[in-house]
Amino acid sequence: MRASFSHQFRLAILALSVSALPCNFTYAQSQVANLTQNASASVSENLHAEIVKNNQLMLNLEEMCDGIGPRLTGSSQLRQAQQWAMEKLKAYGAVNVHEESYELGKAWTRGATKVRLLNANGMVLDVQQQAWSESSPRKMSAEVVVMNAKTLDEFKQIAPRLQGKIVLALSTPKATAAQEKNLKQYSDELNQVIQAANFAAILFVSGREGNLQDMHGSPTARYKKNAAIITKEHANLLQRLIARGITPKLEFEFGGHLSKESVKAYNVVADFPGTELADEIVVLGAHQDSWDLGTGATDNGVGTVVTMEVLRAMHALQLKPKRTLRVVLFSGEEQGLLGSKAYLKAHAADQAKIQAMLTQDAGGGRITGFLDMKVDEWFTALNDAKEQAQELSNLDIVYAAGGGSDHQAFFEQGIPAFAPIQDPLDYRSHTWHSQVDTVDHVNKDNLIQNAQVMAVMTWAMLNGKKLPHQAPQAAQVVR
Ligand SMILES: [Zn+2]
Repeated sequence: MRASFSHQFRLAILALSVSALPCNFTYAQSQVANLTQNASASVSENLHAEIVKNNQLMLNLEEMCDGIGPRLTGSSQLRQAQQWAMEKLKAYGAVNVHEESYELGKAWTRGATKVRLLNANGMVLDVQQQAWSESSPRKMSAEVVVMNAKTLDEFKQIAPRLQGKIVLALSTPKATAAQEKNLKQYSDELNQVIQAANFAAILFVSGREGNLQDMHGSPTARYKKNAAIITKEHANLLQRLIARGITPKLEFEFGGHLSKESVKAYNVVADFPGTELADEIVVLGAHQDSWDLGTGATDNGVGTVVTMEVLRAMHALQLKPKRTLRVVLFSGEEQGLLGSKAYLKAHAADQAKIQAMLTQDAGGGRITGFLDMKVDEWFTALNDAKEQAQELSNLDIVYAAGGGSDHQAFFEQGIPAFAPIQDPLDYRSHTWHSQVDTVDHVNKDNLIQNAQVMAVMTWAMLNGKKLPHQAPQAAQVVR
């Protein structure tokens, strides 16, 4: 998207004063003049028109990503983004706007990382410290060895050769089917071998091409010390040197650090109240946390602003849903669905009252369909919902189950939980968890389509037949 003058001007202002934006006042005023409601049109047609005419999608994405920035769980930037979202949601007419806390463990802050070859071509290498990895307090140097262990036994064999080295991990041990049956024992044994191997650092190879990074990490990550991610191209360089009999020697310094104390993380909750079935809720959720190399525009800035937009549009049209719409902006998704699991735990007594949960978390491509999670009644409900909206009837409702975002936590509790299928664009290949997860990879028209689809599907869930729950399937990992 090309930036116009006014667009650039707005960005400059945002960068200076996001927290000072008078969004409540200006937003509320503009809405009075801008009502799109047409009495003869269907609710879905009105939602479509309202979102086209008055949406705040790109503005909100830019305010959050360009103004506030990346939103690592436990960071002050995520806290700032949560305050920003709560103010917006209140301005959009949400009630019961609040935060709910859970224990995160220690927070982690990125610092400067420098890794360079001391021999061969002497290049500075594209390496980023893995989030939540502990750093050695000083500059260190060591030789590189390749690890390609796929099982615990292979790892045990190679481990003595890893001591004091920088391990280039082409693969790491995975549990065999037999070991899966006693995961705790496997995990304890693997951790002991890692501890005893005492390598200087470990470099995981990025899953992206084109010098792109692929950030990951969590407070419970297995490889805790001097863990980092190296681009594919620079991992290849190291391997070519080794193949020619040259042992690469690297100097490295990692600047990331953990907080002294454990901290709390938060989810943002906001309601748009229902009428005759107000105690039943439809959760429209998206994770607001992101990785910290880009600004989390496609993962999951888009889901966040779409979720907020759905509430805004419904309130602007003065709709009266039967059930309550609950917007939840989760955190900790990237560390293992921590926020959605904490929400479900805190609301365990009310789970039966959840009609459905919807989340968008596959980038900013157009929505092409939904997975029905292989439940016949849910398949029917999704089909009914799209048929009620003429404009959506080309969506595919696919008989398949998929996880990988916050809906998985709800699904494992037996709650109807749906995530749209989206046009992948450059999401998996480029922006996802990389340093180019930025606003310029988001298309405004796609975002409008996303919000329209999510609004209409949510409206159907708010007013449709009660959906049956499944038995909880906590042990089942959905893939
Ligand atoms: Zn995501």
